[in-house]
Amino acid sequence: MKCRLCQNDNLSTIYKVTDIPVFQNKVYATVSEAQNIMTGNVKLVVCLKCGFIFNSAFDKKVMSYDAQYQNEQAHSPYFQRYLGELIELFAEKRFQELKIIEIGCGKGYFLEMLRVDFFHRP
Ligand SMILES: [Zn+2]
Repeated sequence: MKCRLCQNDNLSTIYKVTDIPVFQNKVYATVSEAQNIMTGNVKLVVCLKCGFIFNSAFDKKVMSYDAQYQNEQAHSPYFQRYLGELIELFAEKRFQELKIIEIGCGKGYFLEMLRVDFFHRP
């Protein structure tokens, strides 16, 4: 195994767990379906040359983002209010000059709010 960024092979394991659910955001129609979910392993390693941390046990073959996958949080009125407060904070602090990076944007709800509510303000 080599670092996926710099190809160095001097890696150190920092965390390991086996047989955990591959997805945390899937909705299943039956209890039986939910009890027979795909599991996988996590082995986090750190590259001792560049510091990159990654799951060396990652298996893209088990990743299936199908119709059962649901990670949208924006159905929650509480979460919607929180996002609105963030946009108000950006406006108050005049963050227009900054770059905003959202990591793990899901279906892009917050980005859409920014586009409509923030960048089109008078
Ligand atoms: Zn590296």
